[in-house]
Amino acid sequence: MKTAPQSIEIGDKKESDGVAEVGQGSRSRAPLGVIDGRGIMFAGHNGELYPAGFLPICCGRFPQDSVVDVYQNSPVFTALRNPELFKGRCGKCKFRTVCGGSRSRAYVLTGDFLAEEPDCDFPV
Ligand code: SF4
Repeated sequence: MKTAPQSIEIGDKKESDGVAEVGQGSRSRAPLGVIDGRGIMFAGHNGELYPAGFLPICCGRFPQDSVVDVYQNSPVFTALRNPELFKGRCGKCKFRTVCGGSRSRAYVLTGDFLAEEPDCDFPV
């Protein structure tokens, strides 16, 4: 799983219990909140612009379209940055603003990039 914020609670509990492990804890944790279309943009060899390399929804084409404009204003990109639009379990999950699940996996398996992450076991 690309993102697993539910593990944060486990890592924090281990730290508070004095059982922090190498590679765990807030200082070594990877930055949160970087997911498809939020901190990431993929440009294909032909200039097509996507929210991520594994999310095949073309949102524009460089150089005809401004990369900045596509990132900031494309309806797909703006929807991806709005966790309130996530559906199903991800839409109800307390981690939706820092995780949100894999939008690519949701799209591939359901056809809806805002659908719930199909491969998450976190008990929402
Ligand atoms: S339900 Fe969705 S937002 Fe919550 S942890 Fe799982 S993938 Fe992330």
